[in-house]
Amino acid sequence: MLQAGLLLVISAPSGAGKTTLCRLLIERAGFSFSVSHTTRSPRSGEVEGRDYYFVDRKTFEEMIRKGEFLEWAEVHGNLYGTSWEEVNRRLSSGQDLLLDIDVQGASQVRKRLGSRAIFVFIMPPSLEELERRLRGRGTEDEITVARRLARAREEMNYASWFDYVVVNDEVERAFEDLLAIVRAERCRPFRIGY
Ligand code: 5GP
Repeated sequence: MLQAGLLLVISAPSGAGKTTLCRLLIERAGFSFSVSHTTRSPRSGEVEGRDYYFVDRKTFEEMIRKGEFLEWAEVHGNLYGTSWEEVNRRLSSGQDLLLDIDVQGASQVRKRLGSRAIFVFIMPPSLEELERRLRGRGTEDEITVARRLARAREEMNYASWFDYVVVNDEVERAFEDLLAIVRAERCRPFRIGY
C-alpha cells in the first residue's frame, strides 16, 4: 500500500453526528472520502459511487472470497466493506483519506495496517441526547431506533480502544478537535522523514 496522505478511520454510534463531521473534513480539510460497498438499498438522495457502491449480496460475497476488502462487516443486517482498490487509488493520489466505518471494521483495519492508520471515535454527549437525535431524524421507525440505541451502547464500550475520542456536543467544537488531531498527526516524525 502506497501511502502519502493520512488515513483517518472514524467510527461512532449512529446519531453521534459522524456524517456531518466527515462532511466538514472533506469540505474544509481536504479529505477524500473512501466510498464503501454495501448491500443495503440506497436511501433517497444517495448517489451510486458518491455515497456507496450499491451491490447485491452475491457480488459482495464474491468480493470477500477474492480478498478484495481491506475490511468488511455486517451492520444492521447489511454488509458493508472498504475495498483495497478504493483505498489504494485514493491514497496513492496523495490525498488524506477518511474511512467512515463501524467498530468491527475499524478493528480489522488496525490488525492489517496498525499505526499507519489513525483511529477516532466520535462520542455523543450522552445516551439521552443520542436517543433524541435518532428520533429527531424522523427517518427511522421505533424498532430501528431501539436497535440502533442498543448497538450504540455496545459500540461506546469500544471507545477506549481508539487513538482519540471526540465528544460531539457541538459540531464546530468537535470539528476543532478533529483538526487538532489531524494537525498533530501530520507532525509525527515518521511522517516527515525523521
Ligand atoms: P448507514 O447504513 O447508516 O450508511 O451506515 C451504517 C453503519 O455502517 C455506519 O456506522 C457506518 O460507519 C458503517 N459503515 C459504512 N461503510 C462501512 C464499511 O465499509 N465498513 C464497515 N465496517 N462499516 C461501514
